[in-house]
Amino acid sequence: MREEYGEDEIRKLLEAGQIAAEARDYGARIVEAGRRASEVCGEVEKYIVEHGGRPAFPCNISINEVAAHYTPSIGEDAVIPEGAVVKVDVGVHIDGYIADTAATVDLSGSHARLLEASRAALEAVEHVLRPGISLYEIGRVIYSTMKRHGFKPIRNLYGHTIGRYLVHAGVSIPNYPERAMIVLRLRPPKLFAIEPFATNGRGHVVESSKTMIYSYRGRKGRTALGQLEERVLTYIEREYKTLPFTPRWLRGLASDEEVLMAIRGLVLKGLLESYPVLVEAGRGLVAQFENTYLMLKDKIIVTTRGGEEIEPRKG
Ligand code: MN
Ligand code: MN
Repeated sequence: MREEYGEDEIRKLLEAGQIAAEARDYGARIVEAGRRASEVCGEVEKYIVEHGGRPAFPCNISINEVAAHYTPSIGEDAVIPEGAVVKVDVGVHIDGYIADTAATVDLSGSHARLLEASRAALEAVEHVLRPGISLYEIGRVIYSTMKRHGFKPIRNLYGHTIGRYLVHAGVSIPNYPERAMIVLRLRPPKLFAIEPFATNGRGHVVESSKTMIYSYRGRKGRTALGQLEERVLTYIEREYKTLPFTPRWLRGLASDEEVLMAIRGLVLKGLLESYPVLVEAGRGLVAQFENTYLMLKDKIIVTTRGGEEIEPRKG
């Protein structure tokens, strides 16, 4: 358990947060019917690098009933349909200090209330957020806000604590009142993301058969690797460490086919974690807003909203 965040660490977290917020808004602005996900993600990721950050995970463009984990990859590139509900989820790190943030664009103009349910739930959490708050209370506030708006949260998608070079650092923050979490509390110092997913569907996601995002799980003993697998893994270790990546970023290491084959081999050997595309179980539409928060003893900072401070409330 860490004591506290140093000045230099906080500076990096705020800088990552600023770049992530700008990249998210830029991505949301260029989302347009007929445009390819690869164009949007390419621009967003370029923006991050040009402003001094690194992507903490591939830019996610999840469309309509796709809730999360969609990014264009080798041989995979969605075209944004007319009237789509599009989530732009962006991660940035500086020296391993991560910011994670998302916004949703409604190209139809007729799903404003769905978006509002997610946005309002995030705001409602900010009103009760304080050192020592229970995870149960966060879930309860999200659930009741969404219910009031006529929607439900996705129960098997969670906010999460964040560590250095770790997008998910072990604690899941529920989007509904999960009884078992009543004893679990957020205590400073802590970095975490809150991301209420709202839907008009069944309220949970299922894994699709497609995977476009992976992460390195660390070397397990002495697994025998092929020459190409070795080359690809060495590159992943150096460039992304344990952060999520997409095969799209490995283009050029070998032919597209060889890169995909190496990835498949590394997954089978247990060296890579897969993050399949997640789809709403009832094919409902999904909206998501997300911010990253740094909870310190005396204040809570929204790193992905200009470092704005939330006054912790008593109680
Ligand atoms: Mn995110
Ligand atoms: Mn997140």
